Amino acid sequence: MANSKFEYVRNFEQPDSLLPNTWIVVRIDGRGFTKMCAKYGFEKPNDRRALDLMNAAAKAVVADLPEITIGYGISDEYSFVFHKSCSLFERRASKLVSTIVSTFTANYVYSWPTYFPDAPLTYPLPTFDGRAVVYPGVQNLRDYLSWRQVDCHINNLYNTTFWALIQLGGLDNKEAEKTLAGTLASDKNEILFSRFHINYNNEPEIYKKGSVVFRDYELVDADSNQVAQEMDNLAEPVQQSKTQADKDKKRRSKARVVVEHLDIIKDDFWDRRPWILS
Ligand code: ATP
Ligand code: ATP
Ligand code: MG
Ligand code: MG
Ligand code: MG
Ligand code: MG
Repeated sequence: MANSKFEYVRNFEQPDSLLPNTWIVVRIDGRGFTKMCAKYGFEKPNDRRALDLMNAAAKAVVADLPEITIGYGISDEYSFVFHKSCSLFERRASKLVSTIVSTFTANYVYSWPTYFPDAPLTYPLPTFDGRAVVYPGVQNLRDYLSWRQVDCHINNLYNTTFWALIQLGGLDNKEAEKTLAGTLASDKNEILFSRFHINYNNEPEIYKKGSVVFRDYELVDADSNQVAQEMDNLAEPVQQSKTQADKDKKRRSKARVVVEHLDIIKDDFWDRRPWILS
């Protein structure tokens, strides 16, 4: 390409490559979804359609970007984890974040009519913000995901009790807030059970645990153990050969992407799916 006298402006671009060999988490969050809830009549405390739509968009993002190893969503937010060996866009934060945000938003808007057939989208349209954070080790990454899942649990227990007080108990917002001020988890469980005969444990898993999006190789390959073992053998993913990386990427892009509502704080989820963090 011919040099022009204008080309020097490129030097104003700041490098923003994320630290090598670290787990990259891109978290997106709906902008002004409190207003969106009111505008489109989201059911409180949990609108299942809105969660299913978030999950559909997240599935599309994971399917589109094989470098993503797992996603986790609650409420109007989703976290996407890029493997520490990821070299997409030379790990440039702005490229990674903007690609996730726009891929997610495009799919969210595209799928809206499937989940809200009776509430066509109008302005202001749904939009999302995003940020990237890197975590140096698997433990930090798992602690990050645990943090989000604990948040899901705390918020859902609060919201479930808050809205039961209003919808079933006839309280107004202020009275419900006051009732819950200073209460512990056990108090909220007790309020739900004694006043409304609701056993929190029986609430749907999607509300209590949030949503996990990942590739389920077991559902794709007949011999799942062999696949898990092969993935385990990629002991040094950062140094893996180009062809191995390509093969791995191809397999990832072919695998089925699933959404489940599981505990990701305990070891079990990870032990049973060694390919996710290997
Ligand atoms: P910001 O732009 O700062 O993120 P926000 O209004 O989106 O502002 P959040 O803290 O992200 O603020 O909160 C999102 C709000 O949307 C919460 O009140 C949450 O309960 C609500 N919400 C999100 N998803 C659902 C859903 N599926 N059903 C019911 N309410 C939901
Ligand atoms: P990347 O993902 O790296 O950006 P790309 O294929 O989008 O890959 P660009 O360098 O952005 O690569 O080039 C965009 C291509 O799309 C160019 O070939 C350009 O000519 C073509 N293109 C964009 N807009 C139009 C248009 N309105 N009409 C015809 N061609 C277009
Ligand atoms: Mg926000
Ligand atoms: Mg929000
Ligand atoms: Mg939020
Ligand atoms: Mg382009």
